[in-house]
Amino acid sequence: MEETLVKDYKTITSFLKHLDGKNYTAYKDIKDTYHFMDFTLIIDYVQGDPFASPSRFRVQVPQHIAGFPRDTYYNKSREIALADFLARQFRSIAYRLFKSRGTGKSGELNMPVMGPEILERTNVVVNEHHVEARFHVGLPARGRRILGLQAMELLCEELPLLVNQSLIFKSIDQEALYRQIEISEDADFIRNKLISQKLVSFVANGSILPRKSGVESAPLAENAVPFKSPKEFEVSFECPNQGLVSGMGIPQGITLIAGGGFHGKSTLLNAITEGIYNHIPDDGREMVITHPHAVKVKSEEGRNIHKVDISAFIKGLPNDEDTSNFATNNASGSTSQAANIMEALEVGAKVILIDEDTSATNFMIRDQRMQSLIDKEHEPITPFIDKVQSMFTDQHVSTILVMGGTGDYFDVADNVIAMENYMPKDVTRRAKSIAEKMPVERINEGGEEFGRVYRRRIFLKSLDPSKGKRSVNIKTRRTNHMGFGKEEIELHAIDQLIDPGQLRAIAEAIIHFKKDPESRELPLADILLKLDQQIKEDGLSSLSERGDLVYFRPYEIAATINRHRGLIILD
Ligand code: ADP
Ligand code: MG
Repeated sequence: MEETLVKDYKTITSFLKHLDGKNYTAYKDIKDTYHFMDFTLIIDYVQGDPFASPSRFRVQVPQHIAGFPRDTYYNKSREIALADFLARQFRSIAYRLFKSRGTGKSGELNMPVMGPEILERTNVVVNEHHVEARFHVGLPARGRRILGLQAMELLCEELPLLVNQSLIFKSIDQEALYRQIEISEDADFIRNKLISQKLVSFVANGSILPRKSGVESAPLAENAVPFKSPKEFEVSFECPNQGLVSGMGIPQGITLIAGGGFHGKSTLLNAITEGIYNHIPDDGREMVITHPHAVKVKSEEGRNIHKVDISAFIKGLPNDEDTSNFATNNASGSTSQAANIMEALEVGAKVILIDEDTSATNFMIRDQRMQSLIDKEHEPITPFIDKVQSMFTDQHVSTILVMGGTGDYFDVADNVIAMENYMPKDVTRRAKSIAEKMPVERINEGGEEFGRVYRRRIFLKSLDPSKGKRSVNIKTRRTNHMGFGKEEIELHAIDQLIDPGQLRAIAEAIIHFKKDPESRELPLADILLKLDQQIKEDGLSSLSERGDLVYFRPYEIAATINRHRGLIILD
């Protein structure tokens, strides 16, 4: 038998002592695997200097030591909720324990901040073999000189403490853990039920929808009015953990959210928009559950459009441009909104979410008087009001629409909910009777059919991640910007991108599917569905080893690719 040298806790301790005072580059030699008493430490990458992006570490605690009972991870819902809980725990204890010690990023332990969404992330991975946490560490130095003793303290004293306090079942708050697991499992349970019950969204009674401010995701603490469903829309689910949960069920079809300004319309729609994701306990929206194929759509003046068939909405432009193959570097409000809808349908969206606050008026409505003044021949836009019904009947795509500005939509809505002092009311019958008593003589410009949803094929090489000497040059900024190769991709209009880790994962995913020979044959939509299937079956980690990736849907990656200005569409 070949003898293998086991590197352990003592090896790295004496190694770091020995490195004290040496030049920073000497750290390179610690890249290895070390067996500690309760876990394995894996150093995957060592930074070149104290200011460079920090070194990549993993710790693996074998399950016989970590001790998580099977019921904390026996299905996908539970596994994701558990890993999410451990990551939050690990991160918050790390930030208490670790201090800055030296130059640059010396001594910092880094795991990206997490919002209130419970999502599959690669920062913590749990299975029957082990619990693994992935993070970055800035290896300590003074100038370019290694602080070996500081590194020893950090890796050989503080890290074991951190692992013991955050990744071992016995030492964590088990009640809080089970609460998160059970709530998240119930949320997934309801989301699965929505489809068979022909609902597109569910808002539980008692939910707290408003946020602390427009830029904070924490719930509004004071004077928040808890949600209460109108009787007419109330539905109940017998959940596996919480038992009976009741609230408002929004049916398939066309739902209008009306009401006066500042009465909570957008707040409701935003909660519905976020309801595609699960939320941590006490977020207030943990039982707001939306159809997984719901896509929020806005107007986005100035965006680029790559050969999208927007002829369902826009036809006969003054320059005679073909809108079944529409391309521009600088879209108008209405054409951008049309493209945003068509691109979502292309990938399989089943629900479109629209807020009047972020829509182009001329895309939403063309009223009777305007129809009299400007005849159809001189108006390329078919307003959404004349397409929303055929979008449902032909494409089976529902719409939830916030609209306080025009009652013309009463004619096409299946359900009308009015927000009054933050409380929803069913006003469908009243709206319909008003529509009857005060008929609008506008002409439907939409025709019988919705029109074509075209599935494009892309030239894979046009998604080039390289820049200069770097074969991969990816830079992400928050959730609104991605540098991909030489391109700068603007993502501020994509409300359902909520975590910077999703952008990193999207970039990895693009690089990943480009390597798949089948991608060359498939339309973009099918590439992305195949990718989603892979992530669901093999996990996000199958995209890359990185520990800072977060789950995204086909809609978010499609939105990113569509905004890449160098993208080439194949004819
Ligand atoms: P609208 O879209 O109808 O104009 P918003 O949804 O923007 O109204 O809400 C207006 C304000 O009311 C926001 O500051 C929001 O945080 C607050 N708000 C919304 N819902 C509630 C609620 N349930 N309880 C307390 N405040 C709320
Ligand atoms: Mg609003």
